[in-house]
Amino acid sequence: MSSPLPIARSPVEPLLRGEVPDAHWNDWRWQLRRRLTSLADLERLVRLTDDERAGIAAAPGLFRIGITPYYASLMDRDHASCPVRMQVIPVAAEARVSDGERVDPLGEDALSPAPAIVHRYPDRVLLLALDRCAVYCRHCNRRRLVGQDDGVIPKQDLERAIEYLHRTPAVKDVLISGGDPLTLSTEKLEWLVSSVRAVPHVEIIRLGTRVPVALPMRIDDQLCAMLRRYHPLYVNTHFNHPKEVTPEARAACERLVDAGIPMGNQSVLLRGVNSSARILEELFRALLRVRVRPYYLFQGDPAQGTDHLRTPVGAGVEIMEQLQGRVTGMALPRLVIDAPGGGGKLPIGPNYVLAWGVDRLKLRNYEGRVVEYPEPAERDCACPYDAVWLGDDRR
Ligand SMILES: *Cc1c(COP(=O)(O)O)cnc(C)c1O
Ligand code: SF4
Repeated sequence: MSSPLPIARSPVEPLLRGEVPDAHWNDWRWQLRRRLTSLADLERLVRLTDDERAGIAAAPGLFRIGITPYYASLMDRDHASCPVRMQVIPVAAEARVSDGERVDPLGEDALSPAPAIVHRYPDRVLLLALDRCAVYCRHCNRRRLVGQDDGVIPKQDLERAIEYLHRTPAVKDVLISGGDPLTLSTEKLEWLVSSVRAVPHVEIIRLGTRVPVALPMRIDDQLCAMLRRYHPLYVNTHFNHPKEVTPEARAACERLVDAGIPMGNQSVLLRGVNSSARILEELFRALLRVRVRPYYLFQGDPAQGTDHLRTPVGAGVEIMEQLQGRVTGMALPRLVIDAPGGGGKLPIGPNYVLAWGVDRLKLRNYEGRVVEYPEPAERDCACPYDAVWLGDDRR
C-alpha cells in the first residue's frame, strides 16, 4: 500500500495542494505525518487573527492542534469565521473554563467496567480504541482522552475490553470510536473488528470516525474490502458544514456505502459555524446526495474550553422547528443533548402537542395550523401473538 516516504520536515516543504506531488497528497499516511501543528505551519496557509494567535499560543497546555493538509486546504485564507478554520484553529476563549464545564462532561470515566470500554446503556457499549484523530476539533468532548501522544491503547487493554464483551451477553451493539479508529492501519483495525465480530452475541458493529471529513484518502479499496467481511457493520461520521462535503469526501462516503456499509452522520451544533437552519439544511441535503443519512444533531457538550462554541438549547430547537415539514424527512436528524454526568442522550425538539385530552389531542403542524386527532375507543394495546412468537425457540 503506502510505501514509507522520506520524512524531512522543514518549514519550506510544500503543504499546499498542487505544490505537493499527488503521490504524497493522496497518501493518507503522508497526510497524517504532515499535519499542521504550529503557528509557523498555520501562518503559511491563512492570515491569522490576533485571537487565533493567542489561541495557538495557549493550546500546548490545553488541547493539541493537528490538521491534515487536506482539511487545511478547505480553510478560507482571509476569513477567520470560516467554518473549517473555526473547527480546528483555537482562539483565546479556549483557555477559559466556564461554569459547569467539565473535563469529562459525560461522566464516561465512571462508567468504565473494563479498559477502553464505556458501558452506559443496557444493550451497547463504546469501545475507545485509540487516542489519535486525523484532526483535533476545538469542540471535542473527549479532549481529555484524545491527542495525548498519538499512542494506540495497549493491546492488553484491548484484549481485556474484548474479554468484557465476551462475558457481557447484554451487549448487542459495539461502537468502536476513540480517537479515530480509521487512523489505525488496516491490519490493526481488522484485528479489532474481527475480535469484536467473534463475540457471538454482538449483532452490529459501528465505527465512529471523522476520517471521511478530514482524511478521505484513507478510505481505500483495501480498507473497504476488509470491512465488508464483518457485516453487519455501520459507519457514523461527523460532518458539520456543507463546505466539508467535497468531491474527495463524497468519494470516501460512496466507497464505504458501496461496500454495503450504511452511513450515518452525527453533527455538533457549533455557534457561528453551523448554527443556522439554512446551513444545516444545505449540509443535510448534501449528505443525502452522498448517501449519508443524518442521524444526530448534538447540542454541544459542556467540555472545558468550549463555551464559546456552544449554542443556547433554544437555538437548536428553533432550527429543528424551521426544518421540520419543510425539508424531506430523510434529511432530518434527531436533536439530542447528551446529559452531563452520565445521564445519556436524550432527544429534544419542538413540541407539536398543544393539548392532550382524553378523547382528542390538539396538535399543530409545521405551518402552525391546529389539527385535532381523535383517539380510538379501545385502549388495550397488548399483542396476543407475542406469547406465541416470543415463546417459540425455533426463532
Ligand atoms: C452515544 C453513545 C452510544 C450510542 O448511542 P446511540 O444513541 O445508540 O447512538 C453508546 N454508548 C455511549 C457511552 C455513548 O455515548
Ligand atoms: S475527530 Fe472526534 S474524537 Fe477526534 S478530536 Fe474531533 S471530535 Fe474529538
